[in-house]
Amino acid sequence: MELGLKGKNALVTASSKGIGKACAEALASEGCNVMICSRNVADLMQVSQDLIQNYGTNIQWFQCDLRIKEEIEALVKETFRAFGTIDIVVNNCGGPPSNNIFKISEEDWNNAYQEILLSVIRISNLVIDSMKQNNFGRIINITSVAVKQPIQRLVLSNSLRNAVLGYAKTLSNEVAPFNITVNNVAPGYTLTKRVYDLAVEQAKISGKSHEEILKSYTQDIPMGRLGKPEEIGNLVVFLASEKASYITGQTIYIDGGYIKSI
Ligand code: NAD
Repeated sequence: MELGLKGKNALVTASSKGIGKACAEALASEGCNVMICSRNVADLMQVSQDLIQNYGTNIQWFQCDLRIKEEIEALVKETFRAFGTIDIVVNNCGGPPSNNIFKISEEDWNNAYQEILLSVIRISNLVIDSMKQNNFGRIINITSVAVKQPIQRLVLSNSLRNAVLGYAKTLSNEVAPFNITVNNVAPGYTLTKRVYDLAVEQAKISGKSHEEILKSYTQDIPMGRLGKPEEIGNLVVFLASEKASYITGQTIYIDGGYIKSI
């Protein structure tokens, strides 16, 4: 299927590792120019070098902490400078800390609010005028199955990611006449390094092996395995493409059947 993505310009946030990196790679593999960002310069340099070598498109990187307004403004400005236009935005972010609901501090709430919700709003506000002028745009927010089936100890995610859904639905209605779609992708348990490291940590505490811990994560997944980051990338590529032109305001779960409800 020709997805019509060759030469399109994409900004993918929090993309030096895991799901964000897989989204950047999937878009680059379809011929997109991609701006990647995170806080870690060494990782960004390595990922951009790999993507250039493997796909030969224009890959740029920018150091940015998604909790800081001025850094987001600089990121978007640099993306426009590098590519001229921004056709596709994938709003990903780092995972907020997990803890007992009564042990989450106001500072934790504030940081998670900045990173999970406000970064999406800030970036959308900065790109929407240009997308309107081009009569094309794709905004894809990476959220979590926690928006439908809250996960114990992840109250920050359970709460703030639903605010992203409310924002995205409202925005999608506003910008639909300009051929701009706004959708959310909600991954279930996906085997990124973060999830692997969590299993290793949990193994140390529990006395079980990390393989056993990883296996335990799959108990509630009908497919019997964790997701792969590239599977999230494939969905994002489709939503970013010309072929997904009539899908907007939606949240698409990609979880091997994990969510129990209809
Ligand atoms: P990861 O830790 O592998 O990657 C996170 C990326 O975000 C890294 O590139 C990191 O450098 C970057 N990052 C972190 N904080 C940042 C900040 N303040 N500013 C800029 N960049 C920052 O994580 P992942 O497993 O790929 O998860 C990505 C997102 O998807 C998270 O929000 C996570 O909660 C969510 N999610 C993950 C899973 C899963 O099972 N892996 C499931 C559902 C939702």
